[in-house]
Amino acid sequence: MKQNGDNIVTIDGPSGVGKSTVARRVAEGLGFSCLETGAMYRAVALKAIEAEVDCDSALLSELLLETTVDFSPEGKVLLDGRDVSVLVRTERVSSFSSRLAELAEVRKFLVKVQRRIGEGGNIVAEGRDMGTNVFPRAKYKFYLDAAVTERARRRFFQNGPEHGSVLDVENELSRRDRRDTLRSENPLRPAPDAVIIDTTRMNIEEVVSTIMLRVKDISLLGN
Ligand code: C5P
Repeated sequence: MKQNGDNIVTIDGPSGVGKSTVARRVAEGLGFSCLETGAMYRAVALKAIEAEVDCDSALLSELLLETTVDFSPEGKVLLDGRDVSVLVRTERVSSFSSRLAELAEVRKFLVKVQRRIGEGGNIVAEGRDMGTNVFPRAKYKFYLDAAVTERARRRFFQNGPEHGSVLDVENELSRRDRRDTLRSENPLRPAPDAVIIDTTRMNIEEVVSTIMLRVKDISLLGN
């Protein structure tokens, strides 16, 4: 089925801005499924870590050839059919996925899967390049932003002090911001037609309702 984008919502933005929570709530509100693309980069990173294949290894292409990444109907991320939803959340996977995401062949591989999943529409797709690259025809595009100090503060309170100080978290987020915005392949940036929401002084409820107000006519589209 060719997608015209009428029933696709994209939510992009930097690490730690709250995209996943917001995307899940918006999807619930619309009765859509939520495509969390960061989890897919994390799944590939987990596979590479387990296989001891580094970013510059010639074995990476072979590894991708024998990799499947998908979601279960309940939204669990499946790596070669195995539920890795919890395993992909470690710091090690996080920072390796950010490096892997710079590679054209990894992006090409995952973008293809993401477009296939999005073919039927009725999705809220969340990531870094959803509005610019993966679903450029999506009718509703949002870009969430927040000051890095605020994102670090939120993540620190979410993860607890055992994951380092607020400053450690801020430094790690800044590193990931640099990789996301400076890479040549599908860098992080708002699509020209995206609605930019600065969430620095907003809570999750306010962000969700701002988005829902804009897409409230989506249920009238008869998709
Ligand atoms: O969003 P999350 O932190 O789970 O994403 C993991 C990593 O995958 C990020 O560091 C980001 O660099 C990368 N990513 C990406 N493109 C996407 C989604 C995630 O490059 N669409």
